[in-house]
Amino acid sequence: MTPRECPSCALDAPADAEVCPFCGYEFPTPRAGTRSVTWLMILLMVLFAIPLLAWLFG
Ligand SMILES: [Zn+2]
Repeated sequence: MTPRECPSCALDAPADAEVCPFCGYEFPTPRAGTRSVTWLMILLMVLFAIPLLAWLFG
């Protein structure tokens, strides 16, 4: 993960920081995007788990 530049103080804040550690600027968090990625991961896990279970019990 690359650090993101704070638009308020122009310093590099950690990529996962919700608030700038230097000036306290609150980064807008893309909740919807994060959620869709989470669902994609769950979907992929299910898609991999079904054939695995079929193979284990088949
Ligand atoms: Zn800042």
